Amino acid sequence: MTATTTTPNRVRSLPVLLATEDDAEDMGLLAPDDRLTCHVHGRWIHQCVASPAHVSPVTRHRWCRGCRTELAVAVDELSLAVTMTCPTCGHGDSPATTRLTTACRASLAAERATRRAA
Ligand SMILES: [Zn+2]
Ligand SMILES: [Zn+2]
Repeated sequence: MTATTTTPNRVRSLPVLLATEDDAEDMGLLAPDDRLTCHVHGRWIHQCVASPAHVSPVTRHRWCRGCRTELAVAVDELSLAVTMTCPTCGHGDSPATTRLTTACRASLAAERATRRAA
């Protein structure tokens, strides 16, 4: 059993990181897909990604094109696992969803870091 302790050198609380990401996005330094926080819900992205606001048939965020269905989200806070799968066909991956999943894993890790630092 290996315990990976990757401590980020800068631990930022949710409000701080949210404001930082807003600014970085406005300046074109950060792509919306890569944000760890959500400016719509004011939360970590993994905490609100299950909301319908995070489904986009156009960009295929959390969307199965073949089934025209939104993907189900499973977040495991213990193992930092985030999966999004189509309830109909069991697949439904898209480049946008892969990126969103990556951001959710990172936000999980970031949230855990803030809790550890608190
Ligand atoms: Zn959100
Ligand atoms: Zn599907």
